[in-house]
Amino acid sequence: MNLQFKDKKVLVRVDFNVPFDADFNITDDTRIRGALPTIQHILKEGGSVILMSHLGRPLKKLLPDGSLDVKKHTLQHLVAHLSELLGRPVQFAKDTIGPDAQAKSKALRPGEVLLLENTRFDKKEEAGDPDFAEKMAAMADIYINDAFGSAHRAHASTTTVANFFDAQHKGFGFLMENEITNADKVLHNPARPLAAIVGGAKVSDKILLLERLIDFVDILIIGGGMAYTFVKAKGGHVGKSLVEEDKTDLALQLVQKAKEKGVTLLLPEDSVVADNFAGDANTQICESADIPDGWMGLDIGPKAVDAFRKSILGAKSILWNGPMGVFEMEAFANGTKAVAESVAEATGLGAFSLVGGGDSVAAVTQMGLADQVSFVSTGGGAMLEYLEGKELPGIKAIRG
Ligand code: AMP
Repeated sequence: MNLQFKDKKVLVRVDFNVPFDADFNITDDTRIRGALPTIQHILKEGGSVILMSHLGRPLKKLLPDGSLDVKKHTLQHLVAHLSELLGRPVQFAKDTIGPDAQAKSKALRPGEVLLLENTRFDKKEEAGDPDFAEKMAAMADIYINDAFGSAHRAHASTTTVANFFDAQHKGFGFLMENEITNADKVLHNPARPLAAIVGGAKVSDKILLLERLIDFVDILIIGGGMAYTFVKAKGGHVGKSLVEEDKTDLALQLVQKAKEKGVTLLLPEDSVVADNFAGDANTQICESADIPDGWMGLDIGPKAVDAFRKSILGAKSILWNGPMGVFEMEAFANGTKAVAESVAEATGLGAFSLVGGGDSVAAVTQMGLADQVSFVSTGGGAMLEYLEGKELPGIKAIRG
């Protein structure tokens, strides 16, 4: 954030999309805390801060009479807690670009903070409407985007608004800068060998990622439900494991491409299989290419855990996206836990590790290993798209 904030009004797009209990108490304030360094920096430099965020999907959850459920989706619920965290009062505008927002932003003085009402109360937000964005922009001198998780959406507050500021008056906040810098460590000139671990349910969700990774990783480890489409494509018997029949050709092409490029492609040699998709199903261990009829692979097996661990420990850069099994059920969480531990161990040995996009983030956090890997992305879908090599509209709007 190499900008001059003194005496400037700074419009900051944050991600305050936090969960609440039934009494609107915030149950997890990670996202609010994540934005504090950016807000505090601007205030310390002598600027004032106008915060904007979405909260939930108010236009998809209208009241029976068709009106907005303001009580459920107002950002007013955040004011008290945010004031406490910042150690100063936070003003609240009852609208996003309306008369209240305009009056309060106009009167804002250095050191003061104003929170605008939910950007998604107006359908113009998600439409990326230029008039709506221009009115947001008119309230401030500088625009800062610190909502990486929304950077893949061309909405008014994440993208269009940036078009109303020149390069000297817009930039990324610390949170977003951090996400981009860490992803770039893997994407551009990573320390090698670079290992990517990709899991999750379906090949179809990760096609672009796999295709891109094969071009520049040294080792590609595939686990989770998606592995069985590969195993089947190579002629294995996978019982009733999750298979996308229409993706077997693509799986073979990826296997072939890996060979041509000299990429080591690892599939789970064995699996924990179950006779039912349930936490209390009967289970056994068998070769992933020899799963009996009526059984399905729900986790990687012990041989796979060992092989994956060896590869991970030999890597200097690691990217992990997606769990190795149905980790939500204790009986099938072992492979994901073991991979999390291997990634943490490799990090301890000096590797750079990025966990991003998908449920692997939840897995690492649940296992208390988040501080033992180099970076845990909060970017979800945005991180996945960034790793796929897509140009995210929210980033492009700032970088030009
Ligand atoms: P993703 O969002 O792509 O990271 O996928 C995560 C989901 O994949 C989780 O809900 C897992 O339960 C699911 N998953 C992982 N392994 C399997 C498997 N072997 N069979 C079915 N679902 C799986």
